[in-house]
Amino acid sequence: QVEKQGQDLKAMDGKYVWHHMKGAEPTPGAMVIKNGQGAWITDVDGNRFLDGMSGLWCVNVGYGRTELAEAAYEQLKELPYAPLTNSHIPAIKLAEKLNEWLGGDYVIFFSNSGSDANEAAFKIARQYHQQKGEHGRYKFISRYRGYHGNSMGALSATGQAQRKYKYEPLAPGFLHVSPPDSYRNPEDESGEKSAAEIERTITWEMSETVAAVIMEPIITGGGILMPPDGYMKRVKEICEKNGVLLISDEVICGFGRTGKKFGFMNYDVKPDIVTMAKGITSAYLPLSATAVKREIYEAYIGSGVYDRFRHVNTFGGNPAACAVALKNIEIYENEKLIERSKELGLRFLQEFEEIKSHPNVGDVRGKGLLVGIELVEDKLTKLPIELSKINKVIASCKEKGLIIGKNGDTVAGFNNILTLAPPLSITEEDFAFIIATVKRTLAEL
Ligand code: PMP
Repeated sequence: QVEKQGQDLKAMDGKYVWHHMKGAEPTPGAMVIKNGQGAWITDVDGNRFLDGMSGLWCVNVGYGRTELAEAAYEQLKELPYAPLTNSHIPAIKLAEKLNEWLGGDYVIFFSNSGSDANEAAFKIARQYHQQKGEHGRYKFISRYRGYHGNSMGALSATGQAQRKYKYEPLAPGFLHVSPPDSYRNPEDESGEKSAAEIERTITWEMSETVAAVIMEPIITGGGILMPPDGYMKRVKEICEKNGVLLISDEVICGFGRTGKKFGFMNYDVKPDIVTMAKGITSAYLPLSATAVKREIYEAYIGSGVYDRFRHVNTFGGNPAACAVALKNIEIYENEKLIERSKELGLRFLQEFEEIKSHPNVGDVRGKGLLVGIELVEDKLTKLPIELSKINKVIASCKEKGLIIGKNGDTVAGFNNILTLAPPLSITEEDFAFIIATVKRTLAEL
């Protein structure tokens, strides 16, 4: 019965649903997920998997949290909708809480998705400079391999060939530089060289034309690229010297993924703008935020009717989503999940020390519950492992009940980083299962 129902659903799925990141697949291919509990999901055929990739969607507190469902239900009964041209209680409380989590001095603009939050950040940055009388600052600098969203502005900032090459020309004014890469460019140990590339770009583009630099503190979807500790701080200094804003894209790194409340907190900087989504509600409901330093907000004080921030977002800061976010943050705090992410991240790296001797493992790296294993054909040339081989590793993990992902860029030829990002709430048994499954699967390679 279950199998028949599963087959029917998959056939319907193949007929009617166009999946994200996929071409047309009339034959049933996708896993149809029915429910989830903790770190585990169950498909319509009754198969269970530990979702070791949920972290990239940031189901940080795990599946099946009735507290979050109840928070949404209660709020939907109380007040399902109010536009943020007015205000409502969950948005006020959440903005206050986010400011506290950010370390103070921020004002919060709500929207629905990570892409949305970045679009708002770009518009705020451009207009902020204009409000101050600096009308020429319109350019943005971002890094190759970084991802910032699917909408035209956010995609223009994205530095991944695979995401953009069919949709060009994109928005003008978006420039790219190389991110630090401790594995492939070990000579840039301090990150100074990569930071200098940003400075050079600002100089040669003329600083008066540059609005902001946007970066993920750790590049996530582009391959878990860890910056040297001093890099982001150096970039902030360069930005300050040149009157350029720094935007930290915390859409994945935020909310404990890297063992701190926000990724930038690993690097002793305070960005001018912080964008966040996903982990804000543990992905239970769509919500995102663009946090701006108070002085940026204050540049809009007394704006005439033509100078306001003319950016509306119907569902941004939806009351139920804000109520879920507040409850979700309470869970992070009560269960000490940020601290747990840090601790488990260190334990992952210790446990994976031994796989470094595997001939196809070029590098193992990570911070918090964001771990990348870079697979290569050969350790000397660092040639990325063939796609078919990494796909086999992923399929073999799945056969054993573990969902693990790959990150990088297929079109640019670097889709060779195995990614592990389980919920922050994983149990000790889940942790042991992930370690054992990954080790066993790599031994078979
Ligand atoms: N920035 C980063 C770093 C992301 O990983 C993502 C989503 N993968 C986005 C922005 C865009 O978020 P969304 O998919 O919610 O638009």
